[in-house]
Amino acid sequence: MEKIILVRYGEIILKGLNRPVFEEKLAGNIKKALYGMGKLNIIRSQGRIYVEPHESGYDYDTALEKIRKVFGVVAVSPVYKIATDFEVIKENALKIVGALLESKSHKTFKVETKRGNKRFPMESPEISRELGAVILDAYPYLKVDVNKPDFILYVEVRESSYIYSEIIPGYGGMPVGTNGKAMLLLSGGIDSPVAGWMIAKRGVEVEAVHFYSYPYTSERAKEKVIELARILSGYSYRLNLHIVPFTDIQLEINEKCPEDELTIIMRRAMMVIAERIANSTGALALITGESVGQVASQTIQSLAVTNSAVTMPVFRPLIGMDKNEVIEIARKIDTFETSILPYEDCCTVFVAKHPKTRPQLDRIIRSEALADLGGLIDKAIEATEVISFVLGKQVEKII
Ligand code: ATP
Ligand code: MG
Repeated sequence: MEKIILVRYGEIILKGLNRPVFEEKLAGNIKKALYGMGKLNIIRSQGRIYVEPHESGYDYDTALEKIRKVFGVVAVSPVYKIATDFEVIKENALKIVGALLESKSHKTFKVETKRGNKRFPMESPEISRELGAVILDAYPYLKVDVNKPDFILYVEVRESSYIYSEIIPGYGGMPVGTNGKAMLLLSGGIDSPVAGWMIAKRGVEVEAVHFYSYPYTSERAKEKVIELARILSGYSYRLNLHIVPFTDIQLEINEKCPEDELTIIMRRAMMVIAERIANSTGALALITGESVGQVASQTIQSLAVTNSAVTMPVFRPLIGMDKNEVIEIARKIDTFETSILPYEDCCTVFVAKHPKTRPQLDRIIRSEALADLGGLIDKAIEATEVISFVLGKQVEKII
């Protein structure tokens, strides 16, 4: 008997001719996620991936958690790989059920069998029936319930056989690296980390850019964003965070432009810089955490004016979501607790009491021209600091 991990994936199976590319990427991403945990084989077979560690004392729980976070993975199961021999299958079925009942007070169960190996003399229903009987013999207080059992014992009879009872859901999506790269505008708030996560989940490699206005925003506010980027890199494999000094630009806008247009002009400057950095890194789109109507700068008119500062596509995956829906995801992906730490945002440093909620592009462009931003933008980009992360750890440089 060998304990292994069975990985299921869904969507990528639909991709026709691209399928091998996607599968290879997924297997590669799983391998990277498990880097440093010990020797293993990753085997792709019949629409599944099997992770087979070679070391005794392998940390299965940590490995399951890491694989579960790889985008493209629909579910993972700790599985016993055994010989395709009914006596062996019976023996291991009892072992698994015994271990399960030690920690759970299950009363009902069913056995589900798939037979891929048609040379095996018993058919699936017969295997399920026989195993059910063996389990009932050993645990007479259990009952079979085919509709809503407390647990299911899964048996797959192939070249080897696989037996397990646990299916741990992953996030689905597509393997990161199959859909190019995009640049996330990452603030210290709740929304933008969720937005980045959602796009990464579609297979897009994500880099991030953060604007900070020291000394108007503190070192701690920057640390918070670094922590959020670190958490995100746990999903996206690698992530570069570009930290742009934004103070001089904000001061210039604050001094030269009408007060009720400060926010929108500042947001346009952010977009312009993000697009330039995106271009220099090969990212093909921008990502923001905006959703329609959330605040003054996110009315449909404001979004349109902000959007016109750039030509690159801007992805706003939260556009139609309510705050509570965003918070639910933020909790699930572990960014929420960091996002709600108190901090000053550069957007709130110079903010009008009554910002324009229906800005008009031609007026904003005229106001914007009052500030001399060109040289300041070049300088800010030059002074940008890059911090790199790989799988939840800060590294010197991504190679
Ligand atoms: P968040 O919760 O992501 O901070 P928000 O609801 O506070 O969003 P805004 O402050 O209007 O909304 O920001 C809208 C979007 O602009 C953010 O989701 C983020 O993508 C981007 N953004 C705002 N501030 C910054 C910043 N300092 N650095 C980088 N991006 C920023
Ligand atoms: Mg914010």
